[in-house]
Amino acid sequence: MCKVLSVIVPCYFEQECVPKFYEAMQAVAPQLKGIELEYWFVNDGSTDGTLFQMQKLQEQDPAHVHYVSFSRNFGKEAAMYCGLQRATGDYVTVMDADLQDPPDLLPKMFEYIDQGYDCVGTRRSDRSGEPPLRSFLSRQFYKLINKISETEIVDGARDFRLMTRRMVDAVLQMSERNRFSKGLFSWVGFKTMYIPYHNRERVAGTSSWNLRSLVQYSFEGIINFSTAPLDMAFTVGLVLSLLAFLGIIFLIVRWIVLGPVAHTGHTALGMLILFAGGLNLEFTGVVGKYVGKVMGEVKQRPVYIVDQER
Ligand code: UDP
Ligand code: MG
Repeated sequence: MCKVLSVIVPCYFEQECVPKFYEAMQAVAPQLKGIELEYWFVNDGSTDGTLFQMQKLQEQDPAHVHYVSFSRNFGKEAAMYCGLQRATGDYVTVMDADLQDPPDLLPKMFEYIDQGYDCVGTRRSDRSGEPPLRSFLSRQFYKLINKISETEIVDGARDFRLMTRRMVDAVLQMSERNRFSKGLFSWVGFKTMYIPYHNRERVAGTSSWNLRSLVQYSFEGIINFSTAPLDMAFTVGLVLSLLAFLGIIFLIVRWIVLGPVAHTGHTALGMLILFAGGLNLEFTGVVGKYVGKVMGEVKQRPVYIVDQER
């Protein structure tokens, strides 16, 4: 009996990559003994020829190729979620269309699955070809999130991973709208290992990330997987009120010892009020971020809207 591997490919403006990706996968397929491929290309609202390329592949290989096209851009997380929901395979892998996730790693990943792992992930062993500022910020982000979150987020881990059916079913049990996959995959547990590999360049097209979207993505990770910022408000508030309390004691003691002193220090007072007010606002903002997330979940909106699929 042949087992099925579902290959999920989120695509956003990848018209050149889609056929190249399929070709590269088909080249590796014979090395996967006893495995049949099932493709799920997800067009995440690209308006170039991406959907057309998917349709072409689907007509060419209707038994194996499926596609879903979103009504607009919902983000890679939504596209991956859609693919996971559609996938029927005994094994599932999520891969970028740009071949930065090398298909030739799959045979090795399967070896580990055979050894009893439920998830074989990949991580970049270097960040070559990346702007230094971006590397630096990424590293700091992973350090921070692993300190404040109970869920381990592996530095340099890609979304490229091979999973068993029970792992996928576990991930699908989490129907939350704010999806931070790197955390979700880790949260479900199971025996997981990471294969390191050298960073590769895209075969075509450009990355859709910029510094701003990466910073936003980091916030997503922190807020979805840690309440440390909320706890910080409590601690900072406590320390400040303690300082204020000591200050009041000092003033009273000074009044008793020296008697009334002429009023000075308006500037200091003004600064203190500004400081306390600023902190207050800052942490109200932090609370607001969490409330915003809760609102997003409460609305129960779908993670994506399908325009067409086959
Ligand atoms: N992608 C997507 N929706 C988006 C942005 C990206 O489906 O809104 C896809 C993209 O087509 C690619 C993968 O996610 O297959 C990774 O994107 P990209 O190569 O831009 O990220 P990087 O490899 O630079 O981290
Ligand atoms: Mg890429």
